[in-house]
Amino acid sequence: MISFENISKVYPGSSPALENINLFVKPGEFVSVVGHSGAGKSTLLKLLYTEEKPTTGVVSFDKINLLDLRGRELPELRRKIGTVFQDYKLLPKKTLFENVSFALEVAGRSDTEINEVAPKILDIVGLGDKMENYPREVSGGEQQRVALARALVNKPKVIIADEPTGNLDPVSTWEIVQLLLKINEFGTTVLLATHDKGIVDKISKRVVVMEDGRIVSDKKKGKYEL
Ligand code: ADP
Repeated sequence: MISFENISKVYPGSSPALENINLFVKPGEFVSVVGHSGAGKSTLLKLLYTEEKPTTGVVSFDKINLLDLRGRELPELRRKIGTVFQDYKLLPKKTLFENVSFALEVAGRSDTEINEVAPKILDIVGLGDKMENYPREVSGGEQQRVALARALVNKPKVIIADEPTGNLDPVSTWEIVQLLLKINEFGTTVLLATHDKGIVDKISKRVVVMEDGRIVSDKKKGKYEL
C-alpha cells in the first residue's frame, strides 16, 4: 500500500537526511518509526504526505508514484492521508466543533453532513461535551484528540502521527496511543513516529528503527534498543 524504494533525501547544504531507505507497509498495519531526534523520521513521513520530495527513489501509495500526481490528484491523495503533529495545529479562534467541521467543509461536504459527522467524531474521541469550547480552554491531550478527530473526518486510509505525544503527560499520551490503536483496529493503517521507547514497547506492533537517515532494524513486534 505504501512503499519507499531506494529513497534518499538531501536538504540543500546538509548531509543526507535519508539514505537508501526501503520500506513497505501493508494495508491495516500499525508501524512505529522510532529513533533519536534528527534520525530522519519526520522527513520520511513528509515524503508520504508530499510536503517534501525525495532526492532519489520512489514513494508510492496504492501503487501510484507520488511524483506522478497532477492537479486534482494531489488533494485527492491528501484526503486519503490524515495527519497529526506534536503541536496539534488547531485553529485557535474556532471552537472544537468548528475545527472539525472546517475539515469537512474544505472537503466539500454539505452542512447537513457536517452537523451529523462532526459531533459523532468528537464523541468517538470523548469530547462530545466540549464541542463549543475553544482550544485554549481544554488540555493538551484534549487538543490532540481534536486533531485526531479532524484527521479522521474524511475516513483516511492512513493516519500519519508525527510525535503526537511529544507535549503530553503519560496519561494523555496513553489515551492518544489507545485511540490510534482503536483507529487501527477499525482498519486504518497507522504510521507513528516517536522517540518514546516506553509507548512503543506497550503498543507491541511493528517497529522500524532509524539512525542517521537509515533504517537499522525492522521488527514485526515490540521491543527495540536505541
Ligand atoms: P527526526 O524526525 O528523526 O527528528 P528529521 O527528519 O526532522 O529527523 O531530520 C533529519 C535530518 O534532516 C536532521 O539532520 C535535520 O537537521 C535535517 N533537516 C530536517 N528538515 C530540514 C530542512 N527543512 N532543511 C534542512 N535540513 C533539515
